[in-house]
Amino acid sequence: MNLSHRMKTLTGGGSDGWDVFIKARKMIASGTPVTELTIGEHDIRTAAPVLQDMHKSAMGGHTGYAMVPGTDRLRDTVAKRTTDRTGVPTTRDNVLITPGGQSALFAAHAAVCDPGDTALYIDPYYATYPGTIRGVSAIPKAIQTRAEDAFQPRATDIAAHAADAKSVLVNTPNNPTGTVYSEATLNGIAQVCQDHDLWLISDEVYDTQVWEGDHISPRSLPGMADRTLVIGSMSKSHAMTGSRCGWVIGPEAVIAHLITFATHTTYGVPGFIQDASVFALDQGPEFEADIAAPFQRRRAIAHRVLAGQNTVGLIPAQGAMYLMLDIRATGLSGDDFANALLDQHHIAVMPGESFGQAAAGHIRVAMTIEDSAFEQALRTLMAFAEACATAT
Ligand code: PMP
Repeated sequence: MNLSHRMKTLTGGGSDGWDVFIKARKMIASGTPVTELTIGEHDIRTAAPVLQDMHKSAMGGHTGYAMVPGTDRLRDTVAKRTTDRTGVPTTRDNVLITPGGQSALFAAHAAVCDPGDTALYIDPYYATYPGTIRGVSAIPKAIQTRAEDAFQPRATDIAAHAADAKSVLVNTPNNPTGTVYSEATLNGIAQVCQDHDLWLISDEVYDTQVWEGDHISPRSLPGMADRTLVIGSMSKSHAMTGSRCGWVIGPEAVIAHLITFATHTTYGVPGFIQDASVFALDQGPEFEADIAAPFQRRRAIAHRVLAGQNTVGLIPAQGAMYLMLDIRATGLSGDDFANALLDQHHIAVMPGESFGQAAAGHIRVAMTIEDSAFEQALRTLMAFAEACATAT
């Protein structure tokens, strides 16, 4: 059977970075308990009132094909929320509802990249980025950041690769590093986009999880609304990962094309999911803060546990649900550390290498289990790191 080159090379030929996660899931399936600090999934489930609203909508008959661009109500709600949060005038014509942020990332790249075009993204990166870019037959090109810059990208590094590129994908608050891009960083990126006529694809799915500094949507920077496509999602902000509801926000003309694209790919998002998303968004910022609170609490636990030692470096997690730990002092790679921690202590974390070269020698810890279990797992991890460092 001869499949397309695109399908066969989606992960770039190597690992897609999920090996430790899959190994952990196999251990669990075979009866070995594993403490999972891998994927970005809350330890709470979607709130009962949201599910009740979803049920009410479905029972009320909203189970047929929904409007492909999204329901007017959800598009209006997302548009108003965007205007309120960013100050950029936004209407439903700037919004396409998609089956999650993942699908929005794909649609955004499909909108701006032709086959063979170069699409830039920032390393370390959310593991699916290069595959999403290859999915539209564009060529992914990673721009390295540095641990010593707390993984804030340098505009000069982006500019160095901008000449041949069509787009640059950024993510703040960042998965996997927890970095929140500063105003200076975003102004620099905006300038490069304008100087080199690049589209900016801005993944803001963690915009409600900010612990230090402020989230700035680069679409709000001067001259950027016409060249920015924002990716949003209900997944992280409202603990609705399984509902698969996200969006692209962009110029009206782009959204009009993306609606045609959606007609030929997803054909929209279920109406009862969209109704429940309106209900969830209508709960307002307090509801969102409650969902984000456990990560902020666990971040404080991590600061306490990691204080007063030099073996494991904590990259200042300014946002999102992850900690990036520098374990280079152990003498192990992120991959070897994560595999050994899983084998010996049944704790699963993601190797930094899963997120690119810039995160080599690091591990990503998802703060997604109950506080005391999280603290215990961190203490075990620390003791393991100390033992590795002493052995080297
Ligand atoms: N962007 C980033 C940075 C993510 O971490 C994720 C999910 N882990 C997504 C996009 C996609 O999320 P979803 O499709 O659930 O909205």
